[in-house]
Amino acid sequence: MSNFSALSRAKLLREMDDEHFDLVVIGGGITGAGIALDAASRGLKTALVEKKDFAWGTSSRSTKLIHGGLRYLKQFEIGLVREVGRERAIVHRNARHIVIPEKMLLPIIEGGSLGKALSSVGLWVYDFLAEVEKKERRKMIDKKKVIKAEPLLRTDVLKGGGLYFEYRTDDARLTIEVMKSAAALGAKCLNYAEVVSYLYDDNKKVNGVKVADHAHGGEITIHAKKIVNACGPWVDELRELEGEKVKGKRLHLTKGVHVVVPRNRLPIKQAVYFDVDVDSRMQFAIPRGNVTYIGTTDTTYKEETDAPYSTKEDVEYILDATNFMFPSVNLKLEDVVSTWAGLRPLIHEDGKDPSELSRKDEIFYSKSGLISIAGGKLTGYRKMAERIVNVVVEQLGEEHGSPYNDLPYCQTEDMQLSGGKFKSDKALKKFITRKAGEVTQIHLNANQIANLVYKYGTNTDIIIEKAFELYPMISDANHRILVAEIWYGVNYEMCNNLCDFLIRRTGRLYFERDTLGELMPKVADEMAKLLHWEEEKKLREMAAFQVEYEGVLGFCEA
Ligand SMILES: Cc1cc2nc3c(=O)[nH]c(=O)nc-3n(C[C@H](O)[C@H](O)[C@H](O)COP(=O)(O)OP(=O)(O)OC[C@H]3O[C@@H](n4cnc5c(N)ncnc54)[C@H](O)[C@@H]3O)c2cc1C
Repeated sequence: MSNFSALSRAKLLREMDDEHFDLVVIGGGITGAGIALDAASRGLKTALVEKKDFAWGTSSRSTKLIHGGLRYLKQFEIGLVREVGRERAIVHRNARHIVIPEKMLLPIIEGGSLGKALSSVGLWVYDFLAEVEKKERRKMIDKKKVIKAEPLLRTDVLKGGGLYFEYRTDDARLTIEVMKSAAALGAKCLNYAEVVSYLYDDNKKVNGVKVADHAHGGEITIHAKKIVNACGPWVDELRELEGEKVKGKRLHLTKGVHVVVPRNRLPIKQAVYFDVDVDSRMQFAIPRGNVTYIGTTDTTYKEETDAPYSTKEDVEYILDATNFMFPSVNLKLEDVVSTWAGLRPLIHEDGKDPSELSRKDEIFYSKSGLISIAGGKLTGYRKMAERIVNVVVEQLGEEHGSPYNDLPYCQTEDMQLSGGKFKSDKALKKFITRKAGEVTQIHLNANQIANLVYKYGTNTDIIIEKAFELYPMISDANHRILVAEIWYGVNYEMCNNLCDFLIRRTGRLYFERDTLGELMPKVADEMAKLLHWEEEKKLREMAAFQVEYEGVLGFCEA
């Protein structure tokens, strides 16, 4: 059994309660996962706790791009664009199965936020800062070519356009792959484990956390020399859990919504980054499988942090902007098949509007020794982790000397993530072809295999092996691979319930919602078997998923 299995929770809890760690990370989003991986790979004894599921917070609700943030150039955030721009290639190299090159079209329109000359220079600078390879550098094209590239675009205001490269990803799966990689190096990572208070030594220095187990009840204590708070939008809440109101620098949360429509309602040929006509913002439209998703909004958020949802106003803003730029499609509220809403944990700056707030990360030091980190981007998670672990190692060295003075420097730049063990994009494609050839006996086709590989990478082998080994009696190929996938989720990805599997391990709630009426009871039956649920527990889990299933279209009632 892997040390990242939902079936090994009880053992993991006991070990976390018994052992003494160098570092406890609070928060299982991309920031916490990155820190756990960096720390474990340098040899620190590391634990991580997440109050809900891994990636349950902002890290499953982003635009799902590994990008340098072209628009930050307008705000002269040169350092940020350089860092995340360069990180794109590293994240791609280390996780080719879930970080896929995506050609992006930037239409230039009359009165748009960037003119022709500025777009050309901006994209050039963008490529230059990010050290983009020659073959992937931006290409400016005239109006005729833009229309050919994307015939649905409005033509009356169009002046030309630019084509440039970004990467598309699955944010939650990226987080899980980073977390699995940390666990493989010995980090003890647990979901449904909420920090409810801190422990202190005689000098009032924080040296542990009290954790509530939301999966099975009860509480444990985890002792550690250093505690890092990587709770994203909850960073201030965890700082205030020490008993004092946050003074000085604090978070400013903004909400970002995305809407999903069937591909045939917005059948764009590639991803488009376009101007919103009513303000100076920009929006992405990104094709993915049978759907296209569009977003995002950026509005100050002061409500309940545990339940950000899309409102009718958010959805209408996105649809109006899309209808302006693609006038023939005429999207309506009824076309929306799913949505998601996430909170950006930005650093507050007096007098600035949400879209003007910097996306830079920042470290906060509490008197007790608690270290907190917030801000940043999904794309820059590895560098954020490096900065935090540098601080942790330095403090450990000063306070405890050897062996902390002799630890290696950051190791993650050339570390391929779980599932990402491919030498090149060509090798990834070859892997898919090879696997497709191997599974014809169980009637799986190349498309089904490609879908698996773009989620699980080289770990697809384990799922296929299980499909052959464990479920020979199931003749329907789709059902057979589904149960093998669930088996993998439970045994290798700490998947505890239907929401974990259908939302964050596979993205089905957002991108294949129309299939879930039929699929959900089958997933519930299989999980009940694997996790030994009584009927009542199964019904409760189904009801919990139903809330999420309806919640994504809850704006209809608002
Ligand atoms: C709409 C939107 C679009 C975005 N698009 C992009 C993009 O395309 N590309 C990009 O690079 N970046 C993007 N970002 C930014 C990126 O998504 C975030 O920077 C990143 O996901 C933040 O991750 P995090 O780990 O810091 O926070 P989170 O993912 O929110 O993780 C924090 C975790 O802490 C947990 N937690 C809270 N309290 C406790 C507790 N007491 N005990 C234990 N755990 C606790 C929470 O449950 C949560 O899972 C976008 C953000 C938004 C909102």
